[in-house]
Amino acid sequence: MSKGFFNIPVAKNEPIKSYTPGSPERTELKKMISELRAVELEIPMVIDGKEITTDRRVRIFPPHDINHTLGYYYQGDASHVQMAIDAAMHAREKWNSMAWHHRAAIFLKAADLFAGPYRAKINAATMLGQSKNAYQAEIDAACEMADFFRFGVRCMTDIYKMQPESAPGIWNYNEFRALEGFIFALTPFNFTSIAGNLPAAPAMMGNVVVWKPSKTAVYSAAVIMEVFREAGLPDGVINLVFVGGPAAADVMLQSPDFGGIHFTGSTGVFQSIWKTIGENIYKYKSYPRIVGETGGKDFIFADPTADPQALAIAMLRGSFEYQGQKCSAASRAYIPESIWDEVRERFGNELATVKMGPPEDFTNFINAVIDEASFDKLKEFIDAARKDADAEVIFGGKCDKSVGYFIEPTVILAKKPDYITMVEELFGPVLTIFVYADEDLDKTLDILDKTSAYALTGAIFSQDRYNIEKMTKRLENAAGNFYINDKPTGATVGQQPFGGARGSGTNDKAGSVFNFLRWTSIRTIKENFVSPKSYMYPNFLPDQE
Ligand code: NAD
Repeated sequence: MSKGFFNIPVAKNEPIKSYTPGSPERTELKKMISELRAVELEIPMVIDGKEITTDRRVRIFPPHDINHTLGYYYQGDASHVQMAIDAAMHAREKWNSMAWHHRAAIFLKAADLFAGPYRAKINAATMLGQSKNAYQAEIDAACEMADFFRFGVRCMTDIYKMQPESAPGIWNYNEFRALEGFIFALTPFNFTSIAGNLPAAPAMMGNVVVWKPSKTAVYSAAVIMEVFREAGLPDGVINLVFVGGPAAADVMLQSPDFGGIHFTGSTGVFQSIWKTIGENIYKYKSYPRIVGETGGKDFIFADPTADPQALAIAMLRGSFEYQGQKCSAASRAYIPESIWDEVRERFGNELATVKMGPPEDFTNFINAVIDEASFDKLKEFIDAARKDADAEVIFGGKCDKSVGYFIEPTVILAKKPDYITMVEELFGPVLTIFVYADEDLDKTLDILDKTSAYALTGAIFSQDRYNIEKMTKRLENAAGNFYINDKPTGATVGQQPFGGARGSGTNDKAGSVFNFLRWTSIRTIKENFVSPKSYMYPNFLPDQE
């Protein structure tokens, strides 16, 4: 038990390092990349603190250099998922009863390890395994990871401070219990920090976790697990399994001890999981918490007063950073015809300077897309757009998978606002633009709002305050993260709580107190200091004659 009301260290966003030529961080990162490229790692699952290998080794390679082997991971099966559930349930009581400041210390230490001695390693693993350039790896794997843990500890303590009033003679208080069961953390490939945060947030609140990362992000997941263990996370609290998604879900969603899912990934997968949970609802000891942040069809909408250069840069960075593989990436833009020619020229000029290649070369802005399936799907959409009378590929479009999965930043001009690439999430470096007649601004806002099933992020560009007010109001439900004169990506923990509604998820805002509230079950305790000794209400006394 704690013997004091402890203040936590003030949470601050981890400063982003520059990696300019000659900087110590650049030298260290390049050295780490060379070291990792020179070895082939063997990556086991980690269940109950033990490293588990199997007879199925799966090769890991950089998406931008598919003939190079980074190592192998050991693929598990349903029996490993069950082992992980058992380990988690075994660890639960001890972990849940540990004083909160010791739990906090583990994650604060993990934050400092990622920001310090493991910074180069987690960045290099993300660059090599997920084909992310140095800047994008830094803001994700090192900085956002540290932010998630530091602000997470703050969220935890803010929740613990949420206490009820007490009337005279009684004392009321809330106890924030862990959920009665285990949490299934199911994580995507595209953000190393999300992969770390989804198991960590429930664990901070005293829960135990079975974590299944994406098969294309196992390389960085292994570093995350290494840091959790070095930070002192007890065995069994977070168990890491490498099992196919459906197989993992099959075992976990059948378990009576399933307490909740913390998911980030595509909408289809989330919906199928939700459906299975509904079908199994009679099996569970409690109603599971379902938290999922999913896909997006994120937009940029400009009015005729928009600054063309600022707009062009927002389109470039918002759509093509990390090859457009951010849930928040702009993938559709609406530009008024009065400024289109200028925007097109500026955008094209900027795009012509963008370099594509492996992230080991620090001058490359664009790297490879994550895997062959994604490459093939994107190529199909680009090829179809080339042939379709309703579309025109105006920039990029070249696809080459001979060395790695490279797709040029591609811009499609759509002749109609419901052209397929204006509607569907492609999750790659493809931006589709619809040019509207200036007088149709209101109509086009309505079209934007109704075109897609998603509502994750969106940005408006305007210098006219009346229009800014109107567009902000009109698009109230079109995005959970809304930007004015800025690109729709790059949400920072503690500053812009992130998540969207409609088809984009449960909007529980990762890294914020709203998310952390989902990982606790409150017990309210009332103590009466002087218990009544009679059942009589005062009004039972007879009237005085
Ligand atoms: P994905 O849905 O393919 O995979 C996510 C996880 O689910 C992986 O671990 C995967 O192995 C697992 N999985 C896949 N199919 C499964 C199934 N049938 N049953 C159970 N598990 C299954 O997503 P991804 O390609 O890794 O990530 C990209 C997607 O994630 C995009 O749709 C993107 O918009 C979304 N995303 C959303 C946010 C957000 O905050 N809203 C953030 C990042 C990514």
